[in-house]
Amino acid sequence: MALITKSIKGTQDVLPSESYKWQYVEKTCLEVARLHGYSEIRTPVFEHTELFTRGVGDTTDVVQKEMYTFNDRGNRSLSLRPEMTASAVRSAIEHGLINDALPVKGCYVASCYRAEKPQAGRMREFHQFGVELFGAPSPSADAEIISLANATLNELGITGCALEINSIGCPACRAEYHKALKEFFEGRKECLCETCLDRLDRNPMRIIDCKVPTCREVAKDAPRMIDYLCDNCREHFDSVKRYLSAMGIEYTVNPSIVRGLDYYTRTVFEFVSSDLGAQSTVCGGGRYDGLFGQLGGHDTPSLGFGMGLERIMLVMEAQGVQFPEPEKTDVYLAPMGEAAAVKCMELCAKLRQEGFSAQTDLNNRSIKAQMKYANKLGVKYTVVIGDSELESGIVRLKNMENGEQAEVTMDSGIVEALYDMGINDTIERLNETVAAFEDLAGLDALLGDSNNEEV
Ligand code: ATP
Ligand code: MG
Repeated sequence: MALITKSIKGTQDVLPSESYKWQYVEKTCLEVARLHGYSEIRTPVFEHTELFTRGVGDTTDVVQKEMYTFNDRGNRSLSLRPEMTASAVRSAIEHGLINDALPVKGCYVASCYRAEKPQAGRMREFHQFGVELFGAPSPSADAEIISLANATLNELGITGCALEINSIGCPACRAEYHKALKEFFEGRKECLCETCLDRLDRNPMRIIDCKVPTCREVAKDAPRMIDYLCDNCREHFDSVKRYLSAMGIEYTVNPSIVRGLDYYTRTVFEFVSSDLGAQSTVCGGGRYDGLFGQLGGHDTPSLGFGMGLERIMLVMEAQGVQFPEPEKTDVYLAPMGEAAAVKCMELCAKLRQEGFSAQTDLNNRSIKAQMKYANKLGVKYTVVIGDSELESGIVRLKNMENGEQAEVTMDSGIVEALYDMGINDTIERLNETVAAFEDLAGLDALLGDSNNEEV
């Protein structure tokens, strides 16, 4: 196939017939975030390269091996974002978001770019749902972030994801740990890859996250950060665990999680699915208390996570999770002749204004061909309009599911009939709303009572 009609390796198109799944997943994620008080933040796809070398870290795989970096026409070095946290923090500093009431809660669905070897669940362009919580030092913030990720997976209908947590300490306790790590790897230098030899001096903890098999093998027996935590970090970690237990969120402590990005401090976590094969991590996140300072802002203890939506999609498909069916077109208007075509265009516009989805012929096709097309679309109702309908002003509205037909007037009759036919649906929805309000009223009464008791 010619190059220009082939997408770039490691990227994928979402086709019209599949996009409803993505829309559903994205909407669900953002809705769960909204329920926790998070508002969407949008930042550009590219940034100054230095944001990522400083933010993500210049000894990480992401920056050293995976970033799409290029010079623009003004010879500035720019990079496609490999992740969103650095961009969100850059934006928060630039716009003074953290000078106001804290914490600030942001969420996003964003495309990210990494030059990796493409395989299932590992793309060069991929998408993340994520949240960032700026200015929240307490362990309850760690628990909220983790429970938000957990709630998102639940809401999407995903089951069986294991939560693994760890603490990678703070700069104070990490100095001691780095010393121990260095000593450990110094004696095993011959097993380390080139990149890790360089990391040995600059950032020995990165060796533990290296994917090269020989490095992995040695790293297995390396000292663990969790054994070097200072009192404050240990207390923080214990408190996070207490919160999780109280919230009924199951976890295991996995001391080998260090995460691939340099900015993390203290709590780090991953949600892992056994339905994914090699790329098993659906969500990764943690605390990054030093990042604001590192990027030139005020110290602002913060945390967040990123969830890979391609992997989420793979898990959902593997687990046979049902996506809500996309809405079909309400009515298809089939014209016979030019005058009718004009009328159909006019009626379509009217129907859409009333909130019904409507389509008509755009190809000058025969009625038979139009009906075939309407059937293929799976439209709910069809109306054929020819000279006699134009003359009488009466049309037949056909229910395509059961074949029933109703005679209605052309101008307001179609809209009314559609409203009428949709009435059961509407009543059901009304009842649901009323029930929801009753629930709220009950909650109010409850809150009122407890307030009274306190007084
Ligand atoms: P991995 O260890 O799988 O490479 P990571 O530690 O590099 O993941 P993060 O930078 O923490 O990943 O990104 C958060 C999430 O984004 C991951 O848990 C994963 O779900 C998703 N993700 C990361 N890289 C890719 C990719 N190349 N393609 C698809 N999803 C990805
Ligand atoms: Mg990676």
